[in-house]
Amino acid sequence: MSTFARHILAACALTTLSACATITPPQDARLYTGVTLLDPVTERRTENAWVLVSQGRIVDTGAGRAPNVHADHRIDMNGAYALPGFIDTHAHVTLGRLSVVRENGTPALVATSEDEITAHNARMLVAFGVTTIRNPGGSSEANAAYAERVRSGALLGPEARAAGEILDQISFSGLAVRVTDAASIEAAVAAQADAGMNYIKLYHLLDETQFRAGVEAAHRHGLQAITHTGDITWDRAAELGVDAIVHAMPISADSLPLSARDGYRDASETGSHAFYEWWERADLDSPEIQRLIAALAAHDVTVDLTLVVFQKTFWGDDTSVRDSGAAYVHPLMAQNWQTFRFDIGWQAAHYERARAVWPKIQRFARMLHEAGVRITIGTDQANPFVSPGYDTIAEMQLHQEAGLPAWAILRMATNEAAETLGMGDRIGRIAPGYEADIVFLNADPSANIANAFQMRAVMINGALHDADTLRETASR
Ligand SMILES: [Zn+2]
Repeated sequence: MSTFARHILAACALTTLSACATITPPQDARLYTGVTLLDPVTERRTENAWVLVSQGRIVDTGAGRAPNVHADHRIDMNGAYALPGFIDTHAHVTLGRLSVVRENGTPALVATSEDEITAHNARMLVAFGVTTIRNPGGSSEANAAYAERVRSGALLGPEARAAGEILDQISFSGLAVRVTDAASIEAAVAAQADAGMNYIKLYHLLDETQFRAGVEAAHRHGLQAITHTGDITWDRAAELGVDAIVHAMPISADSLPLSARDGYRDASETGSHAFYEWWERADLDSPEIQRLIAALAAHDVTVDLTLVVFQKTFWGDDTSVRDSGAAYVHPLMAQNWQTFRFDIGWQAAHYERARAVWPKIQRFARMLHEAGVRITIGTDQANPFVSPGYDTIAEMQLHQEAGLPAWAILRMATNEAAETLGMGDRIGRIAPGYEADIVFLNADPSANIANAFQMRAVMINGALHDADTLRETASR
């Protein structure tokens, strides 16, 4: 063996096998050098690394000696930290403004989908490193059109796995479809499956019979069932086979200690006040909560807590918190949120009560994580004051403030979400064969998640975009 070959082998042994750059790069391949690779799965940091990309996929990656490509195809990333593209599991990318219309004289809420707002949201998500989303509810038609426009390249945006209209006891044009019996549930589910949806979202007014029928119909059609629950407890939803639960609001009276249930049911405040009314009475050390958490773990139910949308509500009177990401919101949405918001009618005392339960919600997040419940990072983008992309990182940061480790949060936002979405074999890692979805940061988020805001560039399906340019062009 020549000295040179021995040298190469030694270098390979020191890093990863793929560092043995003996492959012949495809003609069109681009080599990105000078990166520090961060692998959330192994919690490993590899300096002086390179990534070889061709046809939207990662061909290979390694450290030290890189494959030979033409100088024009070599891009020096100058020390950027590289991570797999982020996944926001709760982004209503196609949801636009809400308005009130009169139907036969009675006012009804209508959700719209507007191409200009969708394009803005999609581009802004990418600008903050979000390369894949789960869209848990919206117009099936708009969501199918979005998927097609992204696939064809007509629109720059994250690849989306989506639910159509959410199933509930009331209809809400553009957002919810009313279901009653098993036949109407089957019809709604079949229509969404035909429209190419991936999930069925079961909403909070459904009773247990309807809920069960919804889960069964979704599974019959090969779709996952996700839910925002009301009276049905999270443990019951898990037992009934639901795949994922959204929002840190397990607000069923049955999850409270027995002595607190009547008071909660009789509470004078309604609507969004239940957010804190429930948490004020919850006992995280009670058997009810132990049972809830154990059921999620046992049935492998994924949870996205959407902490940021509750933060925006609980601090709705504090613009320094509420408007932190306002610069990235489409102006028409910002205008819409002057009317449609969760804290309508809240007084100073309500905000105070809501903020007082926040440490309890943070502890709940820690308890889920420590019990091995699968958590993903979801924001509820499109709901009041939630900014596309910016708040995906804010959501990760809120998980760190709740006491979860940074590396664990980075896994939740990448490979673990990919597995939950059934896409774990092609996204969520920087590895040979995976889609070339990569975020390049100016600072290392593996100790401090806030560093993920320092986005330099984002690669989506092999195309590299400057982050600032994406932000600047989103609203045009
Ligand atoms: Zn939502």
